[in-house]
Order: sequence, then C-alpha cells, then structure tokens
Amino acid sequence: MNRETGKKVLKKRRRISQTGALALLVAAALIFAAGFYLGYEKGAGQKRRASDILLVNADHPLSPDYVPDELVNLYEMRHSFRLSRSDIYLTYGTYLAAQEMFAAAESENVNGFYITSGYRSYERQKEVYAECRDGYAQKPGCSEHQTGLCFDVTAENVGGFENTPQYAWLRQNAWKYGFIQRYPANKAHITGISYEPWHYRYVGTEAAAYMHKNNLTLEEYLN
Ligand SMILES: [Zn+2]
Repeated sequence: MNRETGKKVLKKRRRISQTGALALLVAAALIFAAGFYLGYEKGAGQKRRASDILLVNADHPLSPDYVPDELVNLYEMRHSFRLSRSDIYLTYGTYLAAQEMFAAAESENVNGFYITSGYRSYERQKEVYAECRDGYAQKPGCSEHQTGLCFDVTAENVGGFENTPQYAWLRQNAWKYGFIQRYPANKAHITGISYEPWHYRYVGTEAAAYMHKNNLTLEEYLN
C-alpha cells in the first residue's frame, strides 16, 4: 500500500465511522421515541382499565333494566362471613374477592363480620327510596347496590361499626382484595353521600391500591 492509497483508506474509514455514528443516533432516537410511545400507551392502558370501572352516583344513574351478570346468592356459596339474610346477592367476582378477604381476616382472628346487603334491583331501590326519609336513600338507578359490586357489612352487637376491630381491619386491608370504602368521612362533598363506614365496593386490586395510597374516592380516581 503506498501513501496515497493509505490516505484514501483512512478517508473511507472516517466516512464509515461517521455513517456509523449517524446510524447510532437514529437508533437512539427511535428507541427514545418507542419508549415514549410505550409510556404513553401504558398510560392509555391504565385509562382503559379505569373506564371498565362502573361509576354510579346521582350524576351517573343506571338504567332501570340494568342487571349485573353472574349474580350469586351468598347463602349458597362457601362463605367465611355471616349473613343477615339468606337472599343477599353479589356478582361472582365480587363474591370471590370478598370471600378471600374475609377468609384472610379470619386467619388473623378477626371474625364476626355480618353482610347485611348486596345487590339491590332498581325496583327494590324504588321501595327503599319510598320508605326512607329524604337524604337517607339514593334515588332508584343512583344506588351503587344495583351494580352487585358492593356490600354493606357490620359486626355483631355493635352500636357503631366504625369503633370495632372488624372495621379497623377492613380499613387497613380491604384494598389488598380490591375493595374500597366507597363513602369515607370528609368526602361527602365529592361522593354526594355522607360517611358510610359499612359500605364496601369492589374495584379490583390495582385501582383499590392506588386509591388507598392516594386517599381518593372513586369519583376522584375516575376524574
Ligand atoms: Zn351500601
């Protein structure tokens, strides 16, 4: 190789390394863009999951013919909790989560939970509404009980459920099983419903964990 040819080879090598650097730059930009896109998609995915969560309140009523799929009679299912009646229904998924939760409470020696209410049909809510004083019951269609995704719970022989160890356990652990206390104290201006320590709603573990950690109501979470 003479000097001239050597110079040419060097030039060529430099060109190749410049092209290589450019390719690297483009690749890095593409990776960055893909990451950004995936991040966006992940966020969008979370939104999609949130939109699967049914919101029922005075501004978001259910239609009179809304009946949830797969309602099961708790009395006929294996249950680690007590029932105030033999005709309390929940969706199958809500039952499974509740059963898991109350079995866990039992394993920690927290017993004596009584489920007093579950699914309520539009027609039944109409009767409840008619029987109740103003402000004590939701209008038909506006009760979350029509979803079959929530229940009311209490403990044996108590004046106020919020003063019981059962309540304390639920406050600490319900989110792990996908449940939220739907109407917390000091949030009535957001939920439209005053403090109900007994009312628990199934939203799934991911949403429940997020709401618990950030002290959010369902309205705030879905906003
Ligand atoms: Zn309730």
